[in-house]
Amino acid sequence: MDRVYNFSAGPSVLPQSVLAKAQAELLNYADSGMSVMELSHRSSLFNDIIEKAEKDLRDLMDIPDNYQILFLQGGATLQFSMIPLNLMVKGKAGYIHTGSWSKKAIQEAKKYGEIDVIASSEDKGFTYIPKLDQVQFDQVYDYIHITTNNTIEGTAYSDIPDTGDIPLVADMSSNILSEVIDVKKFGVIYAGAQKNIGPAGLTLVIIREDLIGKAKKNCPVMLDYKTHSDSNSLYNTPPTFAIYMASLVFEWLKELGGVKKMEELNRGKAAILYGYLEQSKLFSSPVEKESRSLMNIPFATSTAALDAEFLAKAQAAGLVTLKGHRSVGGMRASIYNAMPVEGVKRLVEVMEIFENSHK
Ligand code: PMP
Repeated sequence: MDRVYNFSAGPSVLPQSVLAKAQAELLNYADSGMSVMELSHRSSLFNDIIEKAEKDLRDLMDIPDNYQILFLQGGATLQFSMIPLNLMVKGKAGYIHTGSWSKKAIQEAKKYGEIDVIASSEDKGFTYIPKLDQVQFDQVYDYIHITTNNTIEGTAYSDIPDTGDIPLVADMSSNILSEVIDVKKFGVIYAGAQKNIGPAGLTLVIIREDLIGKAKKNCPVMLDYKTHSDSNSLYNTPPTFAIYMASLVFEWLKELGGVKKMEELNRGKAAILYGYLEQSKLFSSPVEKESRSLMNIPFATSTAALDAEFLAKAQAAGLVTLKGHRSVGGMRASIYNAMPVEGVKRLVEVMEIFENSHK
């Protein structure tokens, strides 16, 4: 069966060569006579997999030695709880509110301490990222939380705020590994895997060591970063196959030239679609130009009926999962690392044909 161009926001497209490699190794991994899915998480073969995944991620993101990489479960959503449970020492944190996911992070954190929403873009329907360069962050905060890429609204930070000594915590679920970032600016980075890392079921946490070991007394053992840090993410059975798939994705990214090269490709892909949207008389993007995401690009025609007609045409052309999130409507093209440039070009072609037939 032919593969489609899958614009899903997540779980989303994976590199075809990665899927092919996993398929080739599926029944008999490294002459073990079994699949990675059947390997003990305490075996030396699995140990090699998780160590390589960690090393490759460290290389790809240039992660300093004083940061730990944790391979966890529970999705980015569980981090909405783990962050306050582990970092809320004084009892107060600042959140920047930029969309549906930050809303959930804020709601959850409120159970564990006092939350200040320091800035919000709710006034304009989350179509921009608030300017933070003039903000003086109050030293009382245990941490400041941002969502670097807003998957649903299609916005992203172009500059990472400088929070000084206050740890900056980032939900990077939908743009981790898509562009070069300076890990040293962050206290904690977390991401669900199912966009730029691999299949669902794995959650990555990159955490500065001094932030580990401060969890609340009644923090469940599985939600304490120290538990996972002390046991190299092997306190209990980790999502072994998802970690293996992530390691193949990291390998693919390294072979391709690393995150810098990936960023170049991502900027090129996004420019093709934004370039078309800018001159189109039928399709438009709701997002302010300087806050545009490279990963998730919402767009719409002028009516819901035309949107539906376009979606049907796109589907017939093999461009799938383009329907926008129910809270935003219209369309959304998620063009993560594994979306080839050909997919974006094909999308623009189909949009052009549609527009020409509706003049
Ligand atoms: N944060 C962001 C920015 C997301 O895009 C998502 C999922 N799409 C989540 C959090 C929730 O992730 P999970 O489903 O892994 O809990």
